[in-house]
Amino acid sequence: MTLKVVAKPNPNPVPNEVRDGYVANPGFGKYFTDHMIVANWSEESGWQDATLQAYGPLSLDPATMVFHYGQEIFEGLKAYKQPDGSISLFRPDANAARFAKSAKRMALPEVPEDFFVECVKELVKADKNWVPGKPGEALYIRPFMIATEVAIGVHASKQASFIIIATPVGAYFDPSKTVSVWISTEYVRAAPGGTGEAKCGGNYAASLVAQKAAAAQGCDQVIWLDAVERKWIEEMGGMNLCFVKGKGKDATIFTPKLTGTLLPGITRNSILNAVSELGFKVEEGMISVDQLKAGLDSGEITEVFACGTAAVISPIGTIKSEMGTWKVGDGGAGEISMQIRKYILDIQHGLASDTHGWNIKVC
Ligand SMILES: *Cc1c(COP(=O)(O)O)cnc(C)c1O
Repeated sequence: MTLKVVAKPNPNPVPNEVRDGYVANPGFGKYFTDHMIVANWSEESGWQDATLQAYGPLSLDPATMVFHYGQEIFEGLKAYKQPDGSISLFRPDANAARFAKSAKRMALPEVPEDFFVECVKELVKADKNWVPGKPGEALYIRPFMIATEVAIGVHASKQASFIIIATPVGAYFDPSKTVSVWISTEYVRAAPGGTGEAKCGGNYAASLVAQKAAAAQGCDQVIWLDAVERKWIEEMGGMNLCFVKGKGKDATIFTPKLTGTLLPGITRNSILNAVSELGFKVEEGMISVDQLKAGLDSGEITEVFACGTAAVISPIGTIKSEMGTWKVGDGGAGEISMQIRKYILDIQHGLASDTHGWNIKVC
C-alpha cells in the first residue's frame, strides 16, 4: 500500500493582499501559511495517509505523552524561488534521511523517506504563493513528529503524529554584523551515547540556560565543548562551525569532525562538498579551545563562521571565554565566509549551476 496525501484545502485562506504583504516583509517565523500536513501512526496500523488541511491549532489530551516525556523530533529545510518563477527545495532527501535517524534514536516510528519528501512537496505546492523571492529569502519548512499516545506510564509511545508547517522567512542576516560567542564550560549540549546527533526538541530545551549565560556575558550565542574533556570545540547554538585557516586560494576550511555528539548539518555537508570548487581545501578534525586561541594569536585562523539552514552562514567576530576575549580577524565578516555564503545561496536560488543535483523542483 502506498501512502498518499489527501487534499482538504483550507476554505478560509488568508486574503491575497494580506498574504502578499506578509510575503513582501516576512521577518522570521512570524506568519504561517494556509495549510499544514498531518499524518498519524499507530503501532497496530502503521502510517495512515496524510492530509493537507487548514493550518490551525491541535487539540490534544493533557495526558498526551509528548507533554510529559518530550518524545519529539523535528527538521528544518527551505524552498527557494528560482529565476524562472518555479520553486525548488534544497536537499529534502537529506532531511528525510536525518528525520528517520532522529526517529530511531527517540524511539519514534520512521517516516518512509519518499513519503516525507512527497508531503513536503504537497505543502509547498498548495502554499506556493507564500514563497518569497528576494535574495536570502525562502519558505522555511518545519516537519516534526510528536508522541501522541495518551498515557502517563513511561514507555515508547504507541501513537505518533507527523506534522509539517511552513513560514516565509527573510534574509536572517545583516552583512554589517558579526556574531559574538561565549564558550560554555559549565553546560554541555551533548554527551557520548546521548541525543546530540538527533534533531530533537529536548536538545534545544537543555541548551536555553547556556544561551542565557552567554547573553549575561554580553554574547549572542553559546559555543559548545565536548562533554568529557570540556576542551574540544563542537558547535555554536544550533549550528555547526567552520574555521578558515590561511588566506586567499591557499585557505583551508576546517570543521569539527562528526564524533557522534555533533548534529550532522546539511549546510555543513554542502559546504564541505562545494568549497573545493572554489579552490579551497577542506579538513575535518578536532580543535581545542587552546588551539583556537593559538591560531587566532598567530594569525593562522583568519575567519570563523557558523552554518545552518536558517542563516546559511553566520560570521563570528568575537569569541569570549573564562580565559579572555578574542577578536577574529578585524572582527568583521570574513571575505572567504562571505564568498562561501554567496556560493551556497546562488545554488539555492538557482543563480549558479547545481552540479550536485541538490535543488529538487516542486512546481
Ligand atoms: C539543525 C542543526 C544544525 C544545522 O543543520 P542544517 O541541516 O545545516 O540546518 C546544527 N547543529 C544543531 C544542533 C542543529 O540542531
